[in-house]
Amino acid sequence: MSVSEFSLIETYFAKDRLDRADVSIGIGDDAAAVRVPTGHELLVSVDTLVSGVHFPVGTSAYDLAYKALAVNLSDMAAMGAEPAWFTLALTLPDSEAGWLADFSRGLFELADEHGVALIGGDTTCGPLTVSIQIMGYAPTGRCLRRKGAQVGDLIYASGQIGDGGIGLALLQQREVPPLSSAEEAYFIQRLNRPTPRVALGLALRGIASAAIDVSDGFVADLAHILEHSEVGACLNISTLPMATILKNDANAWQQALSAGDDYELCFTVPAQYAGLIDNLAMTLNCPLTCVGEIEIARGLRMRSVDGAVFPIDNKGYIHFD
Ligand code: ADP
Ligand code: MG
Repeated sequence: MSVSEFSLIETYFAKDRLDRADVSIGIGDDAAAVRVPTGHELLVSVDTLVSGVHFPVGTSAYDLAYKALAVNLSDMAAMGAEPAWFTLALTLPDSEAGWLADFSRGLFELADEHGVALIGGDTTCGPLTVSIQIMGYAPTGRCLRRKGAQVGDLIYASGQIGDGGIGLALLQQREVPPLSSAEEAYFIQRLNRPTPRVALGLALRGIASAAIDVSDGFVADLAHILEHSEVGACLNISTLPMATILKNDANAWQQALSAGDDYELCFTVPAQYAGLIDNLAMTLNCPLTCVGEIEIARGLRMRSVDGAVFPIDNKGYIHFD
C-alpha cells in the first residue's frame, strides 16, 4: 500500500468514526475482528454497484455511496437482522479529493443513522465500482426467510411501489406521466437514496412468515417468496400502494409492478396479525399496505376492481385476456 493510499483511507474512511464496543479490531490490520452477541448468528451479504451498469455514469459520489450502503442495509432488513458492520471494496479510476469527500459524506450519513461501523475494505485502481459487504446478527434461527408463507397469509408492501422505476425512467429520458419538477425530484431521490426498512424488518421477526426486499421489481420479488414457500398468490389491483400519478395511467402502474430499485419490503403474515401490522405502520411511521393473499394454486394472479382475476407473469405483466 502506498502512502497516498494509506492517507486516503485514513482521511475519508477511518478517522473520527463511530466506535462500536463489539469491534475488537477495526481498520488498519490485515483483518477486522468483531463479536457476535451470545445466542445470535452472523448474517452476511454483499452487493456491488458498477458504473454504467447499476448507476448512470454521472451519478454523484454522495448518492453512489448512500445507495451502495442502502441496498446492503435493505438486505439486512429483509432478513430481520440487526445491521452492525460493513466492509468497502472501492475501485477508483483516480483519487480526486472532492469526489472522495462527497463519497465519504454520503456513506457515513447513512452509516451513522443506522449505527453501522466500517471495519475494513480494499482500495484499488480501475473502472468505478463500489462493493459493500454488510454483516449483522439475529437471534439464532429467528431471522426472516423467503420461505415460510402459508396459504391464507396476507401479503403486505411497505411504502410505495414503483417510485424507483419512475426515477430511473426520468434519468434515462424514457416516457413518464406528466410531472411537476418537485415530483421529478422526489422520484429521482427515491431512486438514488432509497430508505432501507431496517426497523420494520426487526419488528417483523416472529410476526412475518416470509419476507424479501424489492430490488428487482415487486412481482419478481414476490415470485421468489412464492417459489421458496411453494404457494401461489392473488393481488388486489385496487389496493396496490402506488404514487397517484401511476394509478391514473394503466401502462405506468403495470410498469411499476415490474420496475426494480424500490428497496421496500414485501412480506407475508398470518391473517390474525393484521391489527398488529396496522399498529406497526403507525409506530414506525411507515405505510404498510395489504395487497393480497397467499393461495394454494401456484402462480400469481391479479383481481381487478370488478372481481375478475387475471394471471400475471414473472415480469409483472398482467394478461387481461
Ligand atoms: P492488505 O494489503 O493487507 O489487504 P490494505 O493495505 O489493502 O491491506 O488495507 C489496509 C487497511 O485499510 C486494512 O485494515 C483494510 O481493511 C483497510 N482498508 C483498505 N481500503 C479500505 C476502504 N476503502 N475502506 C475502509 N477500509 C479500507
Ligand atoms: Mg494484508
